Amino acid sequence: MGPDPHGQALIPTLLEVKLSMSMRTFALRIAGICLLAVTVLPGCQQDKPGAPTPQVVTTKSGIEMVAIPGGPFEMGSKGESPDETPVHKVSVSPFWMDRYEVVQEEFRKHQFADPSHFKGPKQPLDQINWTDAAMYCNERSRAEGLKPCYDERTWECDFSADGYRLPTEAEWEYACRAGSSTQYGFGNGAASLKEYAWYADNSSKTTHPVGQKKPNAWGLYDMHGNVAEWCNDRYAETYYQQSPDKDPRGPAEGKERTLRGGAWNSSPESCRSAYRASDPAIDDTCLANDAIGFRCVRSAPAGLGQVDGGGAMESQPKSQTGFVYHDIYEEHKTTPGHPESPRRLTAIIGRLKACGLYTQLKHLTPQAASLNWIQTIHSPAYVERAKSSCEQGEEYLDSPDVPISRKSYEAAMTAAGGVLSAVDAIVRGDIRNAFCAVRPPGHHAIRDMAMGFCIFNNVAIGARYIQQKHNLAKVLIVDWDVHHGNGTQAAFYEDPSVLYFSVHQYPFYPGSGSEAEKGRGKGLNYTINVPLPAGSDDSDYIDAFEHRLRPAAMSFSPDFVLISAGFDAHEHDTLGSMKVTTEGFGTLSGIVKQIAEQCCKGRLVSVLEGGYGLDGLAASVEAHLRVLMG
Ligand SMILES: [Zn+2]
Repeated sequence: MGPDPHGQALIPTLLEVKLSMSMRTFALRIAGICLLAVTVLPGCQQDKPGAPTPQVVTTKSGIEMVAIPGGPFEMGSKGESPDETPVHKVSVSPFWMDRYEVVQEEFRKHQFADPSHFKGPKQPLDQINWTDAAMYCNERSRAEGLKPCYDERTWECDFSADGYRLPTEAEWEYACRAGSSTQYGFGNGAASLKEYAWYADNSSKTTHPVGQKKPNAWGLYDMHGNVAEWCNDRYAETYYQQSPDKDPRGPAEGKERTLRGGAWNSSPESCRSAYRASDPAIDDTCLANDAIGFRCVRSAPAGLGQVDGGGAMESQPKSQTGFVYHDIYEEHKTTPGHPESPRRLTAIIGRLKACGLYTQLKHLTPQAASLNWIQTIHSPAYVERAKSSCEQGEEYLDSPDVPISRKSYEAAMTAAGGVLSAVDAIVRGDIRNAFCAVRPPGHHAIRDMAMGFCIFNNVAIGARYIQQKHNLAKVLIVDWDVHHGNGTQAAFYEDPSVLYFSVHQYPFYPGSGSEAEKGRGKGLNYTINVPLPAGSDDSDYIDAFEHRLRPAAMSFSPDFVLISAGFDAHEHDTLGSMKVTTEGFGTLSGIVKQIAEQCCKGRLVSVLEGGYGLDGLAASVEAHLRVLMG
């Protein structure tokens, strides 16, 4: 029988395990110094100067849109196809556009039957006819208390309504160009098209989850390819010869509606910004083809999304990766010589400054989490005990394994708060992902007790916050700390809304984490433990991530990904006995980042847990951040 994952510390404390290993550690540290001397650092990434930044807004129902300021642009192309001529100057009013094509999971929320040929919750709708797309716009408007744009008998669009609708062709092309006047948003010629679009040459004859390719300069994804997108306009080949120059909305009559953007089966030519196509699939008995989907727009609400200067947007933020840190984290003092010391954070920050990454991060200074969020995971009595123990100057909390100082409670509250601030910034669209350099760590802390250097379970609190504050239902937690995250496992052991994946040294502190611990009740199979013997290396970890984590995560399809990022499986760590290299942590980071991109638009918050060899820790955090920022 395995140890009880909910239970007490049954085995030696984390620190006792460490002391018994000190001789081995010493030898490895010498090796570490030699290795570091020959490490070549890749150059730091440069930002594109002056690129505009998207102003991302999240709607009441949690859908990301880009607030696009109105402005003039040159619509059409010179002679590439008769229906694209003449090139003419058009100006459009401010509007909001979906950042991603409408996905199947979202469509089904409104009780619609999913017509898509290529199934997948995060894949765009396909085989959707124009009328059903317009119907969805109306339902989404009603769900948010907005006035529907479409008359459901005539399907005429009321542009004065504040609800969702399909874009006009002019809005679509303006958004696709994102300030460019070239064939594609990224330039002339299709050489880079594969980085931005799924089309005939790279799609393997299917659609793909939205948001995997690079966005355009305004932060819109898949404009050049995945599925072609319905526009509101009726189609006429000669329309550009007589269209108005302000907010053109297509001809009054016509049996076909316009399609824009490339699809998975398109040639590079038909992925161009100005390319026009049409389809008669307006009759709702008629199935559209499996390369047609859509995205919504709405007219910009007064006072929002309107930026002075007709298209001028704020300059690009330095980074799309957040870095959470607060000075209070270094005020959590442990006993002299304790491996979980403030020097860990000093080492990380020193390294990031030395290599130049520090100034490229978006720095977030958090507040303490409020009690109600802490208490989603911990009992009020325990939280009170943590507070009073610190205030009274006790040496440790619950066990000698968790030394504390007077500021430790505030540090622990702010460590949890750090995760919440990163989550908020991602949901707001300020950043794409984040790393939280917090202390004390969290993943051993259980409901009623501190354990293994941990006071509050930062990642578990973050998961509940994501669900309850932001209404994102499913959270994946990837825990690659060398120790099993018994506290996190216990918090979600019977909960199928959180998939907990841990790879760890076994047997080892805290004793739990056998393969047989898989969850219970409704949570059965939503806990995945991959215990590995001491001495496991990059290939063992990558194997676990590729063959155990990836398939489980893809079928779970999380709405948000958290990493319990301990770096104590590093080959030079002073507590763990694993052989993961700095580069190995970069590879693992890449796999998790890719899962987040494929499942949840890249939403990922990584939270520091362990990592006690200062050089290996700092180098691994750098490698981790390079991947998150890339
Ligand atoms: Zn650890």
